[in-house]
Amino acid sequence: MGMLPDRLSRREFAILAGGAAAVLVVGGGLAHGSHPSSESHSSPGLLAHGTEVVSAPAGSGTADGGLTLEELPWNLRLVNGTHPLPEGFEPPERCDIPGTDGLAIDRRVLDDLMALLDGATAAGVRPEVCSAYRSHDYQERLFAARVQRAEQEEGLAGVDAEEAASFWVARPGASEHEAAFAVDLVDASYQELDEAQEATDTQRWLIDHCAEYGFILRYPTDKSDVTGIGYEPWHYRYVGKEAADAITASGLCLEEWLDQYLG
Ligand SMILES: [Zn+2]
Repeated sequence: MGMLPDRLSRREFAILAGGAAAVLVVGGGLAHGSHPSSESHSSPGLLAHGTEVVSAPAGSGTADGGLTLEELPWNLRLVNGTHPLPEGFEPPERCDIPGTDGLAIDRRVLDDLMALLDGATAAGVRPEVCSAYRSHDYQERLFAARVQRAEQEEGLAGVDAEEAASFWVARPGASEHEAAFAVDLVDASYQELDEAQEATDTQRWLIDHCAEYGFILRYPTDKSDVTGIGYEPWHYRYVGKEAADAITASGLCLEEWLDQYLG
């Protein structure tokens, strides 16, 4: 096991050890957020009156004058299998998360993350940060270990093993953890990374309230076919409060919402 990092978060341990992660299933869980779709409001114009004002330079943008993915503000940056981070990417402003054992996050996310954790604690639930920023090398090792597991346990090989692995562990460059925008939060009294996590008081509170602090549950159970990632009722992505409200109310996942938003 020389390829593995010295220290693993619980999630990473679960991924590598099998067990908890292996019982994750798609479907049957909570839908994205808890807001009824009747609250849905349109997203066009969001940036124009929001705190994250972006003005597209003249002559740029999409053919119809909208923004392109590349012109979005940092907090709306799409990071996934088809939109990986550029080679050599490093989060520009990284800082430690107080109260954790050296876990880090983008500095621009820190205040809202701490407010989320404080809000949860004040509400009587107990969230714990079990994973935050990951280096590219670390993500590479996690992915390689998951590929190895797909080979050994599912009898897959080559691209098939990689494809199966990428449903549970993002490919190197395709993880929001590398961008330092995402955290995995678990209930302090139930730290298994399986679907039962969603039934804990902590996740129920987080799923209901994370948008108030600028976060979205990034991989909802009913969106795996769009995100390409299995249901993760613990992975919260920072997008800013206004976008989090709009995305949650829309019932869309980030890919779908950006698609609609960018027109
Ligand atoms: Zn995560």
